Amino acid sequence: MQQSIETLHQQFVDDLQKIASTSDLEELRVKYLGKKSPIQSLMKSLKDVSAEERPAVGKQINDLKETISAQLDTAKDKFTQQEETEQLKSEQIDITLPGRRRFPGRKHVITQTLDDMIDILSGMGFSVQYGPDIDTDYYNYEALNFPFDHPARDMQDTFYISPSVLLRTHTSNVQVRVMENQKPPIRVIAPGKVYRNEAISARSHVFFHQLEAFYIDKDVTFADLFATLDEFLEKLFHQKIETRYRPSYFPFVEPGIEVDISCLSCSGKGCGLCKHTGWLEVAGAGMIHPEVLKNGDIDPEVYSGYAWGLGIDRLALLKYGINDIRMLTENDLRFLRQFSAV
Ligand SMILES: [Zn+2]
Repeated sequence: MQQSIETLHQQFVDDLQKIASTSDLEELRVKYLGKKSPIQSLMKSLKDVSAEERPAVGKQINDLKETISAQLDTAKDKFTQQEETEQLKSEQIDITLPGRRRFPGRKHVITQTLDDMIDILSGMGFSVQYGPDIDTDYYNYEALNFPFDHPARDMQDTFYISPSVLLRTHTSNVQVRVMENQKPPIRVIAPGKVYRNEAISARSHVFFHQLEAFYIDKDVTFADLFATLDEFLEKLFHQKIETRYRPSYFPFVEPGIEVDISCLSCSGKGCGLCKHTGWLEVAGAGMIHPEVLKNGDIDPEVYSGYAWGLGIDRLALLKYGINDIRMLTENDLRFLRQFSAV
């Protein structure tokens, strides 16, 4: 009996050394202390021991039980501590690692600029209309007082699809379309892409974006045009913008003007951006030509209107200090991500 008790303890100590985790430890507890364990068998065989020896042997078995239980508890504490330390290690954050910046999707600079413009002008009473990118010669040229052989057509190098169908060269193609369907007062903006058959360079591209705005009503004058443009530009750039209006020629306005703003980069002192003039050209404008109103079935004796066309890309370049128009359409993420806070 004595022999069996010692053998059993030795066997337990050997088994314990092979254990590597708390779950193995539980199996060991069942094996040595459970209902079908050898200790229970020893207890049962106590009845075969003589009455004199029984108390001493019984005590030995109980002592073994307690020893095993205590050793299991100690081992459990050790394993739990080890496992916790390992978990902590695996969850540890290395604060010396450089951070990884996230770049959530954002609107493109052009879309953002366009949205800003639409917001401002909607607040000033203009509604948005969209014209087709592929249009007829009539709406792009003829209705706007560019007869077929008019030399002013050469001002805009055109992509023709057929002799009478083309890629629109300006968003002004919306004007007569709107006039055919609405009667004054008309206050409309028309944003979109336009196309010119030009050499691609830092300053020009074969397609870019324009925003057309026009207002037709009784007694509309240049004063309305100036006031609206000044207010619009000030809101767009979030600062007081000085404007300058120079006489110019476009067939669909009479008189026509070009709109300059004081250089945003040098505040008018002269720099590379403004070619040392202190001014930046941002729009073409004027009073809508009576012939154009007639083509839209509006009586020029009763109504008058102004129109302006803004180059959106150019304004975006100015607003964000970008020096090459090609960057806007190259989809280079290194460039686009600079505007993720826009
Ligand atoms: Zn300047």
